[in-house]
Amino acid sequence: MSQKKTALVCGAGGFIGSHLVRRLKHEGFWVRGVDLKNPEFSATAADEFIVGDLREQSVCRNVVDMPFDEVYQLAADMGGAGYIFTGNHDADVMHNSATINLNIVELAHKAGVKKIFYSSSACMYPEYNQNDPDNPKCSEDSAYPAAPDSEYGWEKLFSERLYLAYQRNYGLNVRVARYHNIFGPEGTWTGGKEKAPAAMCRKVAETPDGGAIEVWGDGKQTRSFLYIDECLEAMRRLMDSDFIGPVNIGSEEMISINGLAEMVIGFSGKNVSINNIPGPTGVRGRNSDNTLIREKLQWSPSMPLRAGMEKTYSWIHAQVEARKSA
Ligand code: NAD
Repeated sequence: MSQKKTALVCGAGGFIGSHLVRRLKHEGFWVRGVDLKNPEFSATAADEFIVGDLREQSVCRNVVDMPFDEVYQLAADMGGAGYIFTGNHDADVMHNSATINLNIVELAHKAGVKKIFYSSSACMYPEYNQNDPDNPKCSEDSAYPAAPDSEYGWEKLFSERLYLAYQRNYGLNVRVARYHNIFGPEGTWTGGKEKAPAAMCRKVAETPDGGAIEVWGDGKQTRSFLYIDECLEAMRRLMDSDFIGPVNIGSEEMISINGLAEMVIGFSGKNVSINNIPGPTGVRGRNSDNTLIREKLQWSPSMPLRAGMEKTYSWIHAQVEARKSA
């Protein structure tokens, strides 16, 4: 192998992982990707791609077989509200993701990996700070006393602590980020694991002029959403810095879920109405607090939500049309 920096991306067949591989290749890394599956929407940009189950220690040993310059641990059993907030997948989510994290962090330590990134989630923040849709609190120091509203969030909190313990006890060089709703083209858009931005785009794209879309809850629940390219920039800055985290990677542009639906309906040029129905919604309000990341990494998102959503809608619209004619 040449003198290129080496990176391993776990979860390289997924949304953020497949985009990250492309970015790392662009920066000149030699990249190995691993996932249960190949990326769904375009060929991987990785130099080497291993299809394997990271719950299996034997697979992990093959994958983490050298002192990579950088490892990105993104593999997880996850999905949008329809997957993680119904409670039906709790045991799988906790078992699968915790097993992957236990395997990877131990082998990264044993292989002498130089730096490892762990992707946590805003879902680890306590529910009691997110009951007011207009004024949620998600600063990094508000994590405790812990009270996430989902088992997905509890697993993320456990794994954050796991990686930080390896840093303290074994000197493993870790970075921990808490993502707040990352979205963009080439993300899951159908099948039950899609998240709100993709779900809205699909529903609107599939609905004829004069029709209605269903939106879960009263639509007044709030969130913020960060475009994938911005997320990658923040991740790379975190990896290049001396700051360990945990740190939020998200947008502070908060919007209600009905507001998001209305934005997408606007792109479609169609007359579509919103039908609010009961469904899994998660906390009432959530917004990234970027005070810490601004201070430590001089980073803030540069793209308004509308611009990212427009790109995402046009990609999902094309997927819907392609499926119709298939
Ligand atoms: P994703 O589901 O597209 O990617 C996760 C990938 O992990 C999938 O491709 C999946 O096949 C793979 N995977 C799952 N189990 C595996 C196993 N046993 N062995 C090997 N691979 C396995 O999700 P994403 O949006 O790209 O998220 C990446 C990471 O970021 C996840 O850890 C997720 O929890 C975290 N995160 C994402 C968001 C977001 O908004 N996208 C928000 C918070 C946290």
